[in-house]
Amino acid sequence: MADLIITAPVKGWAAPLEEVPDLVFADRMMGDGVAIHPTGSTIHAPCDGTVIAIHAARHAVTLRSEEGAEILIHTGLDTVALGGEGFKALVTDGATVSRGDPLIEFDIDTVAQRARSLVTPVIITNADDFQIVKRTTGQMVGVGEALMTVKAIGAGQRIWVSDDAAVLSRSAIVPLVHGIHARPAARLGECARNFEAEVEIVKGDKRANVRSAVSLMGLGVKMGDQITIEGRGNDARAAIEAVGDLLTSGMGETGAETARSPEAIIASDVPEGTLAGVTASSGIAIGKTAWLAVASVAVDRDGKGIAEENSSLSAALSKVRQSIANASAKGNDAQRNILEAHLAFLDDADLLATAHKHVGEGRSAAFAWLSAIGDQIAILQNSGNARMAERSDDLKDLEQQVLLALTGGEAPIQNFAPDTILLAEDLLPSQIIALDLQNVKGIALAHGGPTSHVAILAASMNVPSLAAMGDALKSVAAGSMVVLDADAGLLHVNPDDCHMAAHRARLAQASEREADALKTAQNNCHSADGTRIEIFANLGSIQDARLASELGAEGSGLLRTEFLFMGRASAPDEDEQLTSYQGIADAMEGKPIIVRLLDIGGDKPAPYLNLGAEKNPVLGLRGIRVGLAHPELLESQIRAILRVQPLGQCRIMVPMIASLSELRPVQAVVEKVRTDLGITDAIKVGVMIETPAAAATADLIATEADFLSVGTNDLTQYALAMDRENPSVAGGIDALHPAVLRLIAQSCKGGAQHERQVGVCGGLASDPLGIPLLIGLGVTELSVTAAFVPKAKAMVRQLNIPACAKLAEQAMRLSSAADIRLLVRKFIEELN
Ligand code: PEP
Ligand code: MG
Repeated sequence: MADLIITAPVKGWAAPLEEVPDLVFADRMMGDGVAIHPTGSTIHAPCDGTVIAIHAARHAVTLRSEEGAEILIHTGLDTVALGGEGFKALVTDGATVSRGDPLIEFDIDTVAQRARSLVTPVIITNADDFQIVKRTTGQMVGVGEALMTVKAIGAGQRIWVSDDAAVLSRSAIVPLVHGIHARPAARLGECARNFEAEVEIVKGDKRANVRSAVSLMGLGVKMGDQITIEGRGNDARAAIEAVGDLLTSGMGETGAETARSPEAIIASDVPEGTLAGVTASSGIAIGKTAWLAVASVAVDRDGKGIAEENSSLSAALSKVRQSIANASAKGNDAQRNILEAHLAFLDDADLLATAHKHVGEGRSAAFAWLSAIGDQIAILQNSGNARMAERSDDLKDLEQQVLLALTGGEAPIQNFAPDTILLAEDLLPSQIIALDLQNVKGIALAHGGPTSHVAILAASMNVPSLAAMGDALKSVAAGSMVVLDADAGLLHVNPDDCHMAAHRARLAQASEREADALKTAQNNCHSADGTRIEIFANLGSIQDARLASELGAEGSGLLRTEFLFMGRASAPDEDEQLTSYQGIADAMEGKPIIVRLLDIGGDKPAPYLNLGAEKNPVLGLRGIRVGLAHPELLESQIRAILRVQPLGQCRIMVPMIASLSELRPVQAVVEKVRTDLGITDAIKVGVMIETPAAAATADLIATEADFLSVGTNDLTQYALAMDRENPSVAGGIDALHPAVLRLIAQSCKGGAQHERQVGVCGGLASDPLGIPLLIGLGVTELSVTAAFVPKAKAMVRQLNIPACAKLAEQAMRLSSAADIRLLVRKFIEELN
């Protein structure tokens, strides 16, 4: 069947269905479709067909198209209650109509005054058999203009048993505007893992296991593609139904966001040759591709004598140690952390003992080194833990560097032309640190992942990067013109002129906005309607503090003190802590600093505390629970904080509390130390809202805490029961989930009841889509990453709090983070 075009039945503004303030429509309980805010007063037939039903109250009509699609047009919300007042039916049940024929007339003024809303959903009610593959939203539509394009799925095609009776299949047309890219791939995998059955998606002659996001992305499935979902095993039917339903639901990516502007052109029509990947470092870059040159080194198996080989190995190790130490001295914080880990690996006693053992057995130093480190790499890669497997990059890096030092080889020197987008199967940390950033503007990798060191380094160096692009990347020839849109997770290869112009316009707008934001970064921040919103920065070191100050941070909403306590044999004493905190306070030039008490345990280990192995460490002894179990540690930290000068610059924040009973003993220690030090001023002690328990009882906590600060990273982890460190659930962990927003709303309400300031220091404050919602909910202090301070200020200055409050209300009625992201994206687009 050819595609069926559904035209607008009434003139008006077309909007995504999820914006309808009625869950029956917004949650697609009636089916999928588009809503129109009418400016006309006659409902016309949206296609040729038969009138199946005209409601007795004359506000709603259902048609069946010649192809069998059933279309409901529901004029206004709760209009059934008008009992026909203001409506006139122009047709009767069973009438045959042509596209454009008038069906219902209504008195727009009467209905507008009497009904809850005039918004008119246009719904495909038999969504199991028909799927919307294209829709128009975010613009005016006239009667007869295309509103949706609908494709038949075909009832018989939906589930069938193939020749091989053990295999069940289901066909589907992909409604996702960006095709199956990282996020939907992760969600499909998550869904498939609920079943025992093996589930595969087949496109043409290619197939991929749904549990593997990377192979799924490698299929290159685009919007409108017809695919087959195959299941094998006991619960195959349920599995393919679930995966198919999730896919055809659109997962909030049905293109409703693709309304206008360069973004619209870019997103609504993903051109041939676009590859999907996972965002490793955000941003956009345009340029010509170059493939990374790879060194090839020949290695002899047998050595020239034990003494000679051992001494070559030692010399090579020293040379690499020196070169890492040099790079570390010149590097930024992220680089230093990673390079220091490399130095520790190079001194690993077991690794060195194994290498020397192989030399003792007559092997060459190079062969011995490869065997020893190869075993360690294999252990990490086979650990079954994706995060550990990503860490094997660090060992591969050392494998290469020592090998080159042993064989006298050099890493291939590659000269990059200006505006190069570097393509590689994988990139080692030392390779990215050494990159020529004058010329390399973006990176796309076949392997790697969003939490790898390469991703962290790329972000710290501000290089837009995509990872996990799969084998499809290999088809991109060197010298191809590409647009690397890391924000959208897409690499557009040889885009046509129209797309290229749109991307260039977007890039120019982004850099212009960035430059403007920098110009006003030092000024205090108020929203467009004059509300004071403090933009603070999260800090972990003195370097962060210097950068934050330079970029206009008005203070720090979170000083993470645990870095001082990690990676060492014993806790820092009071004086060492004082030196560190004082240095940071000085770098912040007197601006307020919220010092978080030690938040250790869970994913942040400190072996000297002997916390013991726990089955569920993130649910165990972490945050303030550790401080309360080690009172000496708690007191020495509080003493160090209260000794920072000038007095009052530092406030104290208690992490991870679940109830007031954990705050009170901390307040008692603060009082004791205050008295000991002869301080007469009151010390402000606030809490982090990171557990659902704290959010739900924020009104009680606010009676005794001086301020509240929402830690959205942990709050999301605990609200959604998804480990923030577990890559298998990475696709689902999103702080814009309505449950998290509702908890933040509760925290703001609780704080406001007792006139306590509510801030946010979790990652959501640094997410441009989070900011309007947070300030709409009543947050008045955002603590963001230092580099984001200018952008956060620029953004808040554009926002109007009442409009943001309305947006937040709307968002909390939606059912998924993806839908909320679409809603906010549209809101922001309309500001620009
Ligand atoms: C948070 O949980 O949001 C937070 C800011 O704390 P951390 O990320 O350090 O756990
Ligand atoms: Mg936290």
